[in-house]
Amino acid sequence: MNFFDLHCDTITELHKKGESLKNNSLHISLEKADCFDAYKQVFAIFIPDTLRGKTAAVYFDEVCDFYYEQLSENKDSISPYIDFENQSKYKAILAVEGAAAAAGTIEGLHHLYNRGVKLITLTWNADNEVASGCFSETDNGFTPFGKEFVKEMERLKIAVDVSHLSDKSFWHLAEFAEKPFIASHSCCRIVDNPYAKRRNLTDEQIKHIIGIGGIIGINFCVSFLGCDEKSGFDEVYRHIYHALSLGGEKTVCIGSDFDGCNVPDDLNSLNKIPELYSYLISRGIKQDTLDDIFHNNAERFFKKLLA
Ligand SMILES: [Zn+2]
Repeated sequence: MNFFDLHCDTITELHKKGESLKNNSLHISLEKADCFDAYKQVFAIFIPDTLRGKTAAVYFDEVCDFYYEQLSENKDSISPYIDFENQSKYKAILAVEGAAAAAGTIEGLHHLYNRGVKLITLTWNADNEVASGCFSETDNGFTPFGKEFVKEMERLKIAVDVSHLSDKSFWHLAEFAEKPFIASHSCCRIVDNPYAKRRNLTDEQIKHIIGIGGIIGINFCVSFLGCDEKSGFDEVYRHIYHALSLGGEKTVCIGSDFDGCNVPDDLNSLNKIPELYSYLISRGIKQDTLDDIFHNNAERFFKKLLA
């Protein structure tokens, strides 16, 4: 099978622990990807809400250097998604989780672009220079700079990601965005807990993303799925089924959040994805639809964005 994952924090965690992408103690390693025919992974550099301005930009560069070191050490098996010449079995897309990495300037955004960033999750949980996140205490939506920032992202063909945005920021963006945007790692708001209520998408938000031609990655975090620590397969099915029932056949993807959150035991490794795929077949989701969810929808979106 082919797998395209819209979000993981593996690079940030490997950098912290000093481990390697090829073989490590985390959810994702290149050795674990051996179960796929083709594997495409968005690697996010996570910017904590404690970092702003220049310190955020310096931290980004440090982790970004580490990312390119890891790609270079494993260049026979993985290469940047946009390197179409390289026939490596695995492809990597660089992302930033938290637009604070741009240090509140358009020049900072140009720097991220020059370093190969193809997707920016605009906020983490708090406010930054661009917009309010889902746990913002004031929730002001977008700043005037934030609107300028998104317009420039669209011009540069960097994917705009709403996961972690507050509801107010989401609908603010919907008013002025000119290109489709995505939710890289969010579930459906069918679960009742404090995190799911803020981080998952309402039906109206899901329908909006479907309508504009965006994509949504279902997240494996236990609190977003609403499952226990042991098993999450049934809950993944429920979230996918719900998004499909709203018309999301060409919208739903996977955004595992591997190495960035607490996942159930039956989904705690990249090489358990084929078991999830088989389970979803057994629950009656058609193979063509699953192939779209696990790979083709994300592939189509990025090919169009980067064309
Ligand atoms: Zn996240």
